Amino acid sequence: MKIKIQYNVISLFLVLPIALSIMFLSSIANAQSTQSSVPLVITTIKPLAIIAKSALGGSATVEYLQSSGQSGHDLSLQVSALRKIDQADLVIWIGEDFEARVAKTFKKLPGNKLMTVLDLPLRHLSAEHHDGKEQEKSQDSTRHRDLTRDPHVWLNPHNANIIGKRIQAQFGMPAADIISAAQIAQLQEQLQPYASQNYLSHHDAFGHFVSAFKLQPSLSIRDASGAQQGAKTQYQLRQAAVEGRAQCIFVEPQYGDKDAQVMAQSLQLPLQPLAPQGFDQPLNEQAYSQFMHSLVAQFKACFD
Ligand SMILES: [Zn+2]
Repeated sequence: MKIKIQYNVISLFLVLPIALSIMFLSSIANAQSTQSSVPLVITTIKPLAIIAKSALGGSATVEYLQSSGQSGHDLSLQVSALRKIDQADLVIWIGEDFEARVAKTFKKLPGNKLMTVLDLPLRHLSAEHHDGKEQEKSQDSTRHRDLTRDPHVWLNPHNANIIGKRIQAQFGMPAADIISAAQIAQLQEQLQPYASQNYLSHHDAFGHFVSAFKLQPSLSIRDASGAQQGAKTQYQLRQAAVEGRAQCIFVEPQYGDKDAQVMAQSLQLPLQPLAPQGFDQPLNEQAYSQFMHSLVAQFKACFD
């Protein structure tokens, strides 16, 4: 009898910790599965996160790898970024033309986990936009890549809707615009008075914005890959300023460095911030239309 009780007590001591640890482990597993029931979307640059969050709202966690103030063209991957990419359900990047330094890693990802924006059926720029630039390639830059297409495709709201819908489809959600036709028309109306105004820009990033809203194309200090322009373009910039054809130089926060300031001073033009990467834009369901509205407001400020 006594022996049996002891045996029961002993077995209780053995079983209880095991039962408790099973309960504990399963609660961790539950917590993990509720966490992973919301998909994780990782984008390279902030604008793609703005589009993804606008497209998915609360049904996914959206994060981006670009640090504030960093040019998307300079994006490289830290260890923490590699871990995030590993955890992600979907990774979105512009493509090799844009984030050249991450291409090697991204090309190893399974096809259903990687979305390459430049592979989508987007609206690209007509050839004449690039004619001048294709003939003249700067030789003073090691960073220069031959861009066949302007990769800043997110600045055309029609493209943003195409990208957004493709992201929604990836998660089985119904297709919905992230910026409505009415909102685009409203922005177009706001920009209409400035359609023939001239300006310079620090980096050749605004072709898609210009083409979407039928504005004047700009001359830029840096080309579409973020590299210094050649002598011919530098000369054209000065000519444009001298002839009074430009009202301001648009400069992006991540390029708030010397060459724009030197240029602004020597051309006697004001610098006007224009933020095509939306560093200050909070990620929410209205993020893309808010981003576009502030971009339009910044553009107008050059001429007011
Ligand atoms: Zn750029």
